[in-house]
Amino acid sequence: MTAAIVWFRRDLRLADNPALQAACAGNRPIVPVYVHAPEELGAWAPGAASDWWLHQSLAALAGELRELGLDLVLRRGPSLQALTRLIRETGADAVHWNRLYEPAIIARDREIKAELRRAGLEVHSHNAALLHEPWTVQTGTGGDYRAFTPFWKACRRREEPPAPAPAPTQLAAPAGGLPEGEPLDAMGLLPAIRWDRKLEGHWQPGSAGAEARLAAFLDDGLASYDEGRDLPAQPATSRLSPHLHFGEIGPRQVWHAVQRRLARDGAGSLTAGAEAFLAEVGWREFAYHVLFHHPGFPDEPLNPRFSRFPWREDDGRLRHAWERGETGLPMVDAGMRELWATGWMHNRVRMVTGSLLVKNLRLPWQQGERWFWDTLVDADLASNSLGWQWVAGSGADAAPYFRVFNPVRQGERFDPDGEYVARWIPELAGLPAQHRHAPWQAPASALRAAGLRLDEHYPRPVVDLKRSREEALEAFQLIKQAS
Ligand code: FAD
Repeated sequence: MTAAIVWFRRDLRLADNPALQAACAGNRPIVPVYVHAPEELGAWAPGAASDWWLHQSLAALAGELRELGLDLVLRRGPSLQALTRLIRETGADAVHWNRLYEPAIIARDREIKAELRRAGLEVHSHNAALLHEPWTVQTGTGGDYRAFTPFWKACRRREEPPAPAPAPTQLAAPAGGLPEGEPLDAMGLLPAIRWDRKLEGHWQPGSAGAEARLAAFLDDGLASYDEGRDLPAQPATSRLSPHLHFGEIGPRQVWHAVQRRLARDGAGSLTAGAEAFLAEVGWREFAYHVLFHHPGFPDEPLNPRFSRFPWREDDGRLRHAWERGETGLPMVDAGMRELWATGWMHNRVRMVTGSLLVKNLRLPWQQGERWFWDTLVDADLASNSLGWQWVAGSGADAAPYFRVFNPVRQGERFDPDGEYVARWIPELAGLPAQHRHAPWQAPASALRAAGLRLDEHYPRPVVDLKRSREEALEAFQLIKQAS
């Protein structure tokens, strides 16, 4: 029997993997390959934190395949050339992959599919990444959605996503064996200066890590998710985002695991926790829906009025203070330091840090989007663009522009004990909780007792919150009037 190639991309799992399942139907021999071709993603080649994750995730997938007697063949791009060579080496006559939705990848895959079919191969792409394909969810008039609530309602009216298939228990190798690939270390995914070691304590990339995260969340987080999800000091959210991004677990698996858990616990319908959690998975679907229908979304404001926004001229000083977590606004700095230390930031704090950059500092949202792209382990073109355009007020279902988050109020509300701030800014831990979100307003006695000298141990705010808010609103009036 001739072999089929399974082209792994961001579907780094064996369970619930339709491409793998289709390729090995009837115990057909398979050739599993990963092609490293970041240049094909153009301006949005993965950043450093993503590369770190990818390295670990490929190692995990290779280990799972090895247990089933197969080596993952690693090759370098260009993808079409790598696949063509592999076809020649193995005599494979079919290629399967799971779809991705970034504009550059859609264009590349379309070309590869056409070329391989022209060469007489059987080529199939499948859905592993979404509950519903972006083009299947349509408004009454056949258009795309720009608001989340009707989009999610439309998704919910559709059929339940199919139940995920289990991982295969055996896989056959081609009779002549598998060709050699390149060693993982040669892919250059790890940084030369090993700053990435700090990430290791926080994550377990790979499908086993993803399943463990999901299981822990179902046990400890799901029931109270609706109440805890906005509190960054609590481990109340699933932290599944990087696992979902790399396809170590799929949304169908998450969806059905939630349903099974509720059935086990005797819940007749979705609990408030489950409803809120699945809606967040829905936001991920929405992000892909918007990106699919608006390929320029990562670079250009969806609302064109914002392309005329009068951003501040910055010599880099404000942006650097923001990136390093040295703005003097504790809720912002804690978030930026959490990001730097762990490759992840709590969603509430992503909104707060984003709002400060775009509104108070009046720096273009694309600058924040880029920093997140490089530093997040869950950096995802669809969700990151949606998040930044939401914060900027220029996107689909975005926060209205005049909603400027006040980082002090946000801290007092969502981190009332100052626990999150103290965790990431230890120099503020000696202050009583009521002063941790605005140390520059703390009485001298409290600062003295905490051994904290402003400007020396921790900066004063780089921006006046009240005045910068007013300036932002004035700038907004300008683009409103001009349109
Ligand atoms: P949970 O609360 O447990 O949610 C479950 C899953 O739902 C997440 O893993 C994620 O896949 C999805 N999800 C949750 N919230 C959102 C959302 N608002 N938009 C889209 N999907 C969501 N998410 C990314 O995955 N990658 C990004 O690059 C990214 N960039 C963002 C940038 C900004 C400025 C903002 C405001 C949000 C961004 N998000 C991004 C969305 C969100 O912050 C993260 O998905 C979430 O914090 C991940 O943590 P979790 O897995 O514990 O989420």
